[in-house]
Amino acid sequence: MTDYDRLAELLFPDIDKTPEYYEEMYPERDLPEGARVTRFAPSPTGYLHIGGLFAAMVAKLTASTTGGVFFLRIEDTDKKREVEDGVTGIIDGLKAFGIEPDEGMTGPDTWEGDYGPYLQSARKDIYQTYAKDLVRRGFAYPCFCTAEELDELRKKQEAEGVNPGYYGEYAMWRDRSYDEYAEKVQAGVPWVLRLRSPGKPDGKIKVQDMIKGKMELPDNITDIVLLKTDGIPTYHFAHCIDDHLMHTTHVVRGDEWVSSIPTHIQLFRVCGFKPPKYAHIAPIMKLDGGGKRKLSKRKDPEAAVSYYVEEGYPKESVLEYLLTLANSNFEDWRRANKTAPLSEFPFNLKKMGVSGALFDLAKLNDVSKNVISRMEALTVLKCTMAWAEVYDVPFFNRLAADTDKALAIISIGRGGKKPRKDIAKWSDMPEYMAYFYDESYEPNYADPDNVTRADAAAILEKYREIYDINDDGQVWFDKVKSLCEPFGYTPNVKEYKNDPDAFKGHVGHVSTVIRIAVTGRTNTPDLCTIMKILGADEVESRLNEAIAAYKGE
Ligand code: GLU
Repeated sequence: MTDYDRLAELLFPDIDKTPEYYEEMYPERDLPEGARVTRFAPSPTGYLHIGGLFAAMVAKLTASTTGGVFFLRIEDTDKKREVEDGVTGIIDGLKAFGIEPDEGMTGPDTWEGDYGPYLQSARKDIYQTYAKDLVRRGFAYPCFCTAEELDELRKKQEAEGVNPGYYGEYAMWRDRSYDEYAEKVQAGVPWVLRLRSPGKPDGKIKVQDMIKGKMELPDNITDIVLLKTDGIPTYHFAHCIDDHLMHTTHVVRGDEWVSSIPTHIQLFRVCGFKPPKYAHIAPIMKLDGGGKRKLSKRKDPEAAVSYYVEEGYPKESVLEYLLTLANSNFEDWRRANKTAPLSEFPFNLKKMGVSGALFDLAKLNDVSKNVISRMEALTVLKCTMAWAEVYDVPFFNRLAADTDKALAIISIGRGGKKPRKDIAKWSDMPEYMAYFYDESYEPNYADPDNVTRADAAAILEKYREIYDINDDGQVWFDKVKSLCEPFGYTPNVKEYKNDPDAFKGHVGHVSTVIRIAVTGRTNTPDLCTIMKILGADEVESRLNEAIAAYKGE
């Protein structure tokens, strides 16, 4: 037995397994050549940032486009970051946008898959087995420094003008004898386990990042903590063991981890593992004032994925928008493949932008209007009701009371070559449909353009006489046109434009009077259809009220 062996037994008397046991338990995955295994590995903070969803989407696509596996692991080694049931929010957030993992966590403490547990706090024995092995092989040692001693070290380094940290000559427990370690352990002094870093001062590490390209980074020389005093691993150590045993081939994550790459690669090497490939994603940015900044959890409500659920953005819209941020050729592909499902897009990690993509809600709304314009009326109704049931119950009740009417409203201007594009999210619907329902209709007898209030009243009185609920679109429009000349308007818009002084206005001005009278708005989908849905009695009563209002009665 060497001193290292003795130390390993002293530190981990209860660990009786060896790495071989776990290597056998978690064999290579049986996947086709070139298949990539990726993961999303958040802390259980309950909060899913849109940047997290973006990274998860990229990881999922990296796996799915290669016939690989995407899994969800929860990294709960840092109890300070944890909130009560912080896992559910993450699982629900991913699910709401269709970024469902192929394996991994399914609930706060449940998982599916052959490479679990996927919750780090349930893997303590695994980490300790590998930690013990590192001690045995001389790559790890116990450190008994107190917080005060580490503080003193930092002050000393500051005074000397050297980099702070536990490394080289400053690593005071690095090169002690077995007896010195044993004396402390036996006296019950708490210890952390540190890496005996093989990094050389001034050493460089070269990596080929899938997104950022070639990078050269200073090697790690710090004897980082692998296990804390309670035997729980640090994130660095845990993720390395996990990505190895879960056979992650590509680590896709935010680029705040770039500076950790040398430490991570070093850990993989000392453990005897093949390092994964890396793809570091630049953060999502936002224009603010004159400059750009990261989307912030504190300042920007749209940073939280829950915002998109609450606002009722369809998952396809959010995904489609995130894809425009991910791959610059996505929009061309969409133009050429207007109705193809997103899963057919040939996503390419190498086409990701190196600098942070700019998040733009107005653009998301445009994308979403397109997505919703392509949906069937029934789908729109179902999604709207699912949203309303949670976020606007009175509206839900209105829809539920007469779903045929709701469907008829939603069907206006849908289908065909040029569908209407006026709905960006389900929370637009209460306002979009408001004038169809007594409870939400708000009459508004504004002054119509180019029409005096007296003329408006007269036009409406005449219209009330000739209007018939059964008129088809053509007859309906002919009747509106017939109102023009008697009141000094022209049915011909071109004619008006050629000689605006010859008329009070054109047919558009006349029809707007009717539109305002019936809907309270100047802009709506096809008015003839709207009137049919409202029914003769309702139209009649709205016309009466408008006439009275314009007459000043
Ligand atoms: N648990 C880390 C986090 O909270 C994940 C980093 C990684 O993906 O390696 O962001």
